[in-house]
Amino acid sequence: MTIPFIEPFRIKVVENIKMTTREERIEALKNAKYNVFAVPGADVFIDLLTDSGTGAMSDEQWAAMMRGDEAYAGAKSYYRFEKAIQDILGFPYVLPTHQGRGAEGMLFGAMVKAGQTVPNNRHFDTTMGNLQVIGANPVDLPVEESEDSELIAPFKGNMDLVKLEELIQRVGVENIPIGMLTITNNSAAGQPVSMDNIRDTAAIYKKYGIPFFIDACRFAENAWFIKIRDPKYKDVPVREIVREMFSYADGCTMSAKKDAIVNIGGFVAFRDKELKGKIGANLIVHEGYLTYGGLAGRDLDALAVGLYEGTDEEYLNYREAHTRYLGEVLSAAGLPVYKPTGGHAVYVDAGKALPWIPPSQFPAVALANALYIEGGIRTVEIGSLMFEHTDPETGEQVYSPLELLRFTIPRRVYTRSHLDFIGEVAKRVMENPKDIKGLRVTWAPEVLRHFMAELEEVE
Ligand SMILES: *Cc1c(COP(=O)(O)O)cnc(C)c1O
Repeated sequence: MTIPFIEPFRIKVVENIKMTTREERIEALKNAKYNVFAVPGADVFIDLLTDSGTGAMSDEQWAAMMRGDEAYAGAKSYYRFEKAIQDILGFPYVLPTHQGRGAEGMLFGAMVKAGQTVPNNRHFDTTMGNLQVIGANPVDLPVEESEDSELIAPFKGNMDLVKLEELIQRVGVENIPIGMLTITNNSAAGQPVSMDNIRDTAAIYKKYGIPFFIDACRFAENAWFIKIRDPKYKDVPVREIVREMFSYADGCTMSAKKDAIVNIGGFVAFRDKELKGKIGANLIVHEGYLTYGGLAGRDLDALAVGLYEGTDEEYLNYREAHTRYLGEVLSAAGLPVYKPTGGHAVYVDAGKALPWIPPSQFPAVALANALYIEGGIRTVEIGSLMFEHTDPETGEQVYSPLELLRFTIPRRVYTRSHLDFIGEVAKRVMENPKDIKGLRVTWAPEVLRHFMAELEEVE
């Protein structure tokens, strides 16, 4: 027997989870207006809603929390945090924030004005939301292959460089205050971005004098994919790959709830000292003083340790294999899995799984709800409930390029038998898929509607 992967840790603390009955779940989903975001966590058996802040901290991280220094200004915790960022990422300046979206808000608040355009390989929903509330225009420029869920290619998260140049020339450099690149590309099925693409994207931004910031949430997983998929990097240590990736950028925003394996935290890091002044006042008003940014000192200490653990090669090897295994299990259950499997999640092409449900009736939401009813599994739609919009130029309704359902894997939380159970539930759902109904929105806010939308089943 070959063992698909083995956890490089053992369990010291457990959290009990409880299976509800099918009747209880039907009731819970109805009360949640058919949106799993509104289902209470206690009614979920296996929670794959997100990998954000849901990871298990290590004994070393908990120990570090006891050393937390809660001084308002200049706490020892802050300096340990700053040192870890300088050491792992290589940026000289860093400001902590309560989480990734706080970092985005602070950076964009300092650099972006209404009417301006910000390019990205694909904006994450909060990144898009942070630009929209300013009145700016987020533009996604993914490579075409990212929209083909069958194609096996190593770096489907890449930026389309031709489209990037075209966009810059069309809207004019003066209207692009900042350029982004998201690694890994969360909204494009968690696909990695190659080192060549990071370097070439940086070169284009540099040529036009546009400051280049990386959305770094899963930088360690991205570095691991570069190591295992780009032969030039097979013998390069992950931490060196990480330093090279960031060496091309002027700064980054980061949700530490991802690859720094903490339950809360984020930061914006950069090279230009001037930015500290520009962001600083805003940070103090909205997040907190420069050396804590809305976090406790103990959070900064856990984050500093987490940056080292999240870039450990044995951990990353397990992380990738664990996620890939869930991809195999779901494929075997008859679900069309986006290929290749990403780093933090398995994405299922729900448009393909339930082709009779049109994008306007959200096939991925329908599949999410069916999985919840069948086995108490909570997943999340990355499709038209999240991304449907009206084209500002043509006035047409634009749906998401793919109707994806994301099975997001919390770090160091679920074992292989949990993954096998998810496969069993998926198999049962796919035995009678024609019973699954599409949905329509009965109420939703204007921005980030998927978090709050109320829906009903279409008969
Ligand atoms: C999670 C995430 C964010 C936002 O971070 P939060 O900590 O959830 O606020 C931004 N970008 C990407 C790519 C993400 O995955």
